[in-house]
Amino acid sequence: MKLEEDKEMRINQKGVEDIMVDDNVIKNFADIISKNNNIVVFTGAGVSTESNIPDFRSEDGLYKQKQKYTYRPEQIISHSFWKNRTEIFYDYYFNNMVYKDAKPNYSHVSIAELEKMGKVKAVVTQNIDGLHQNSGSKNVLELHGSVERNYCISCGQYYDLQTILDKGEKIPICEKCSGIIKPDVVLYEEELNQKVMQAAIKAIRQADVLIVMGTSLSVYPAAGLVDYFKGKSLVLINKSTTPYDKKANLIIHEKAGEVMKFVMALI
Ligand code: NAD
Ligand code: ZN
Repeated sequence: MKLEEDKEMRINQKGVEDIMVDDNVIKNFADIISKNNNIVVFTGAGVSTESNIPDFRSEDGLYKQKQKYTYRPEQIISHSFWKNRTEIFYDYYFNNMVYKDAKPNYSHVSIAELEKMGKVKAVVTQNIDGLHQNSGSKNVLELHGSVERNYCISCGQYYDLQTILDKGEKIPICEKCSGIIKPDVVLYEEELNQKVMQAAIKAIRQADVLIVMGTSLSVYPAAGLVDYFKGKSLVLINKSTTPYDKKANLIIHEKAGEVMKFVMALI
């Protein structure tokens, strides 16, 4: 066990949590970023857990939490459920999917910083929380839409998140035509926006480095995007194992935000 402990470095600095990552892995990761200017970052709900937004599949994720609803979350956030049990859908949605006061964490901030440095060319995200944009990322491809945007299904009128929250209705209703306002979020049974999907495929196909962060890579077709990557280095940062671990050139099973603090210090 001693050997094992020597190999791994327990990093403990002010403001930084203890993480167990081999020192060389951090150095290799920093080196990959330093040497490349065509990086794409592919993120999932795990990058926002450090902003206190629960993901789906972690121990304290939404799928494991005890809820007052008699339906499973996977059922509720589907198109047919939205259509047939609209009031329960919105109750679940506003209580579990919308985190208006959440602030970006160091994962979001470091990705935005790397874009400013000309290194990151695109952020492809499965998240709907808008935190990449809030931290300053410009080229963000939102595969599953965003809670920030909402549209009347009858007349197309746009509503921002704050406006529908302020309305405080059980089912948000359009002020112009009394139609139902639907969040611009891709529900189960719905198709992804093909323009966004094509742009994501293009960015990943052309990238030299793909950094995958905080996703279980189990929601398709989004997870399949990794297969389009033909570049040099696939870096995977995720707390738990994923079906793509074997394909990665560098793999870190730790908290993304904490890992990025150490990596950015070397760039
Ligand atoms: P997921 O819940 O399936 O997987 C999240 C993964 O992140 C897990 O494997 C977990 O081990 C890992 N993780 C958790 N915290 C982490 C951290 N601090 N650092 C590194 N890894 C961490 O989420 P998914 O793969 O994104 O797919 C679920 C779907 O849920 C997505 O399509 C997304 O639209 C939706 N979703 C989005 C949000 C959000 O916008 N913040 C929140 C919940 C769910
Ligand atoms: Zn309307």
